[in-house]
Amino acid sequence: METGISNNKINTYDVARQQIEHAVEQLGLSDDVYERLKAPDRLVEAAIPVEMDNGEVRVFIGYRSQHNNVLGPYKGGIRFAPNVNADEVKALSIWMTFKCAIARVPFGGGKGAVACNPGEMSPKELERMSRKYIRKMVPVLGSKVDIPAPDLNTNAQVMAWMVDEYCNIQQYNDFGVITGKPLDVGGCVGRETATGRGLMYAVRAAAKVKGLALAGATVVLQGFGNVGSNAARSMSQQGSKIIGVTDIGGGVYNPKGIDVESLITYCRATGSVKGFPGCEAIDNKDIFALDCDIILPTAVENQITAAIAEHIKAGIIGEGANGPTTPAADQILKEKGVLVVPDILANSGGAIVSYFEWVQNNYSFYWPEAEIEKQLEQKIMEAFEHLYTYTCNCSDTITMREAAFMYAIKRLADAMKIRGW
Ligand code: NAD
Repeated sequence: METGISNNKINTYDVARQQIEHAVEQLGLSDDVYERLKAPDRLVEAAIPVEMDNGEVRVFIGYRSQHNNVLGPYKGGIRFAPNVNADEVKALSIWMTFKCAIARVPFGGGKGAVACNPGEMSPKELERMSRKYIRKMVPVLGSKVDIPAPDLNTNAQVMAWMVDEYCNIQQYNDFGVITGKPLDVGGCVGRETATGRGLMYAVRAAAKVKGLALAGATVVLQGFGNVGSNAARSMSQQGSKIIGVTDIGGGVYNPKGIDVESLITYCRATGSVKGFPGCEAIDNKDIFALDCDIILPTAVENQITAAIAEHIKAGIIGEGANGPTTPAADQILKEKGVLVVPDILANSGGAIVSYFEWVQNNYSFYWPEAEIEKQLEQKIMEAFEHLYTYTCNCSDTITMREAAFMYAIKRLADAMKIRGW
């Protein structure tokens, strides 16, 4: 039985493989499809020696997992996190393949990471590590091959160092090799806010299905970084009331509502939402049990365990994070009738706007922000509608997550077959 807030015993790669196996079975496809999709095409693991500010050299381990590229180049973020390992990166690359298939962007799935604690590193050390990571990975990257982006603890600045290193090695500018860059080096307006904003669109569509309006709906979030803060901002712009937010440092709760812009400013200044004035303290476990309409997990994997799912009162969960809900929790939420908008749909806004960034880089022609916003909303809404209809057509008892895997695997299986794989 799962217990506790973060169940480190759950191996996300096992979870991803079980999800594929289950969907292949439900679709009645042959075992070959499972065999082809259960592991990445390639996993690169590299030692990354970095000179620290005190002159010492520390060796970090870097990863790049390339899962499947039948629909287009591998695509997926790079995270910096202390305990990241090969299995986590493999699982995340699998989910990227399915995310891109559902969003109908012409990419496959990839993911990268460096096992490090960025909070303890200076900007110069981070820059040296980012550049070294690219030097090690350059043989497997390329704007037509594999295109990284930001993820946990990485941002536009890290992408700028990485794209610069790549272009220096190639001796020409190829900005399409990395997305999520600053605007001055081929970035796309709206990319930084895209995942959070896209999450709002997906949740708004789910709320409509449930007969709930976002205006006045009460919302809690776990995680207040790029995805969480932008989702909170977008939700509050729709009139939702953010009543609780936690992050790795702690959490805050105010049933009357929290002013999101002030919380963003406070969090930037202090590094955490903890201690934001006018709120009660709340921890990362209790946040999920609050009386609210919508829960947005926007931090890390395996946060909604079975023990936590038992206490959930919300009717909708929008998964901004990748893999925040464990399979056992999923089962409980299904029985409780909670509508879980799965990560591979709910957080696809980043992948969608990354696609827009890549198209613009390839054409060296840049679109206005209004166009990006319009296209993002349209793509997420289309993906939600396709998937929701597909879910309803499958059976009454299927969850949106199960349907999402089936829908994506069908697309991939068809493409692999027609390509003769
Ligand atoms: P981030 O580093 O900007 O923010 C992460 C947030 O989660 C921070 O508030 C941090 O304090 C909190 N957090 C970290 N570990 C925690 C823990 N154990 N308990 C509670 N809070 C914790 O990262 P991000 O880019 O916002 O990514 C968040 C999630 O969204 C990840 O799962 C990531 O894979 C996923 N995601 C990100 C993007 C993107 O475009 N950035 C796209 C799709 C999915």
